[in-house]
Amino acid sequence: MKPTGPIPPDYGVVGGELAIAGRPANAWAAEAGDTPLFVYDRAITDARVAAFRASHPPDLGLHYAIKANPYPPLLRHMLGRVDGLDVASAGELRIALAAGAGPEHISFAGPGKRDDDLREAVAAGVTLNCESEGEAARTLRVARELGRTPRIAVRVNPPFELKGSGMRMGGGAKPFGVDAERVPALVRTLLDGGADWRGFHIFAGSQSLNADAITAAQANAIALAAELAEAVGAAPPLVNLGGGYGVPYFPGDDPLDIARVGAALGDALGIRRPVLKDSRFAIELGRFLVAEAGVYLTRVLDRKESGGRTFLVTDGGLHHQLAASGNFGQVIRRNFPVTIATRFSEPATVPATIVGCLCTPLDILADDVAVPAATGEGDLVAVFLAGAYGLSASPQAFLSQRPAREILA
Ligand SMILES: *Cc1c(COP(=O)(O)O)cnc(C)c1O
Repeated sequence: MKPTGPIPPDYGVVGGELAIAGRPANAWAAEAGDTPLFVYDRAITDARVAAFRASHPPDLGLHYAIKANPYPPLLRHMLGRVDGLDVASAGELRIALAAGAGPEHISFAGPGKRDDDLREAVAAGVTLNCESEGEAARTLRVARELGRTPRIAVRVNPPFELKGSGMRMGGGAKPFGVDAERVPALVRTLLDGGADWRGFHIFAGSQSLNADAITAAQANAIALAAELAEAVGAAPPLVNLGGGYGVPYFPGDDPLDIARVGAALGDALGIRRPVLKDSRFAIELGRFLVAEAGVYLTRVLDRKESGGRTFLVTDGGLHHQLAASGNFGQVIRRNFPVTIATRFSEPATVPATIVGCLCTPLDILADDVAVPAATGEGDLVAVFLAGAYGLSASPQAFLSQRPAREILA
């Protein structure tokens, strides 16, 4: 049998069932009206925000990267708790504005913005994180046509990376941002062009559980921001230091020591160069804030034997929760934390492979894991870590199965 990833410590048990926000899994399925469904527990996101605030300098901004989970009720909940939203498309921009976010609290990154995306962002008054000289020229032109002053930060492709990060987005040739050595000239072009220059956006990677690696990347980002500001001869109003704070998904993963990261960041900001003394700083996080708050619940339709192995076939699958199937950027498939929610208190003693309902061998939710012996038709499977890059990062249209429901607990 293969291990599963660690179940977040925030979940309990009621009447033998997995409890989400104090209520049994089946109660959530009944409330949603059907399975499969995603349940997001707002108290868990609140706990992550609180842990961040408690360990980081008080004047550091916390931004939420909404691509992790753009579900509107969750987004409205987050709005009152974070200092800004980072969006990565005009569609996300509309979702953020509709949720009630003020344009002054929204920044828009993404390497492929069309002129109509730029027009929408400039008209709304949000900050564009500019990804290239070409995009800067198009933004200035669009803003002239609109008779508006565009708010523009420059996304820097840093000459370093976040080591050990699941998804590297800095260091070397990249489609994201502008190579650091060309940034000062671009900022001067923006200032000469009449833009409201908002500062720098330096994002070095994602999903790191290594406090020292994050600390090193943050110190490098602060030093780089100072160097660039000195070269420009102007102080950036805001330096977005990126994020990359990870969550434990797989067997052997340990939670990130955010107390250590926050303390080291406080130290690094304390000794920053004078050019940055009046700049504000922010961290942008997606999965750290919401991943552990989400559970995907899917019903067992069938228990069958084949070639000496037991398969539990569910009504869900990779069309809702691609990452758990191992097909969202993982090199080697490993099991997410998964449990039989309706038998949470029973000992898991027999091996089974839990699959989705799609006609493809890729649709595996848990491979060769221990489940309670009586597991079968009607039981609910819970896949944890479903609060980030779940439904919105999955190919829901594939095979035209029923859509997943979502509910905010
Ligand atoms: C995706 C993304 C994030 C969020 O990453 P997480 O791993 O979810 O924290 C933050 N900033 C930028 C620029 C991104 O592209």
